[in-house]
Amino acid sequence: MKSKKKVLLTGASGSMGSEAFKELLKRSDKYEIVLLLQPNRAEKKAFARYKNQNGLKIVWGDLRNSADVMKAVDGADHVLHTAAIIPPAADRYPGLAREVNVGGTENIIEAIKRQPDNGSHVRFVYIASVALYGDRLPPNHVVRVGDPLNPSVGDHYAVTKMAAERAVIESGLKHWASLRQTYIAIPNSFALFDSILFHQPLNTHIELITPDDAGYGLVQTLEMPDEFYGKVYNMSGGPSCRMVYRDYLARMMSIMGLGDFQTIMDPNWFALKNFHCCWYDDGHVLDGYLGHWRHTLDDHYRQVEEFAPKHLKLAVKVTPAGIIRAVLKKMADPLRWARKKDREKIEAFFGRLEAWERIPGWPGLEIASQTNNKLPENESSSALEQAGIFGGECLSPDFTDMGAKIRWKCAEGHEWQATPSLIEAGHWCLECAPPPWNSR
Ligand SMILES: [Zn+2]
Repeated sequence: MKSKKKVLLTGASGSMGSEAFKELLKRSDKYEIVLLLQPNRAEKKAFARYKNQNGLKIVWGDLRNSADVMKAVDGADHVLHTAAIIPPAADRYPGLAREVNVGGTENIIEAIKRQPDNGSHVRFVYIASVALYGDRLPPNHVVRVGDPLNPSVGDHYAVTKMAAERAVIESGLKHWASLRQTYIAIPNSFALFDSILFHQPLNTHIELITPDDAGYGLVQTLEMPDEFYGKVYNMSGGPSCRMVYRDYLARMMSIMGLGDFQTIMDPNWFALKNFHCCWYDDGHVLDGYLGHWRHTLDDHYRQVEEFAPKHLKLAVKVTPAGIIRAVLKKMADPLRWARKKDREKIEAFFGRLEAWERIPGWPGLEIASQTNNKLPENESSSALEQAGIFGGECLSPDFTDMGAKIRWKCAEGHEWQATPSLIEAGHWCLECAPPPWNSR
């Protein structure tokens, strides 16, 4: 009798994957672990200490290579797929992001299907992203699975994660689940210092999750009953992890010793739209299964305080505010776009140049925050209702099997085949989906 279940984890060096790996090691009495890792120097070095770890096998390979993936998937009972090219790399190299994020996921699906009995015993959990929902600023900041997916303009990462999720839902695998992961708040606050800092509107509503809750939740899927599968979930830290971006920035800057953040940046350095993040109305569904809502926003702030390297804090303290302001200003892409009158960017991130020109200083800025908006209590829309929301129709409305492909037609007259499960999860016509972003 096979005593231990075999678990393949991809992305074990990532922020979620590394925590999932730690959690798996704690449960090594129950599970054999397989990791698929890139054979590069950094990964080899990071994982050298596990070389002789009992019950752990490392497959050095590439998600883009189907033979490598086959080797990793072979004999697995569970596949936990967190690996992906994420922003900012995904924005810089959209081709690579597509190959790894979509092609890699397709390779895993194929490898599972090649297991005995078409892999029907294999449980596959795919990690999707909150970025699939696109821009969800107030009053539309509360989100449920089933809301139409609408990646922000130019967000190639979201597009690849959406295509990969589509492949998972349409895979025909017996056991799949997709977890739409929110912003994973790593304790290293200095990682915030990227131009992406300014791509987020100040009134963005965010429901974060700590990396350890994300990793713990993922590993909890190993214990789930069959009914858990065949569904898409929103994954976050829960209502106690909600905040508004402006308040978050204020707190983070103060933890880093930067004092009042309003003296080192201005409101018109930030985009007015076209990012993502939201508060999840239905995150409790997943928590009901996994019990991963263990940390709050305050726990996260505590992690950040504990992590902040002393020498960096000291360096920040002795640096004049004017210099810090100048460094940050250089990162503020939206400010540059507005000044250079970059039409494409202005349209995407502000709407119109006048909207940017009207942004007041800090005192005049009004940001509605921390209002608890619950969506009305109702069942999520059925696939047929979804087709109506999209302005299209189902061409075989008498379907009975949510997992069997039937025909659909969009408002533009495109026809395609998809499962009702896919449409219920907020996916729609591939031809109309971005890129390009011309349908708005
Ligand atoms: Zn269409």
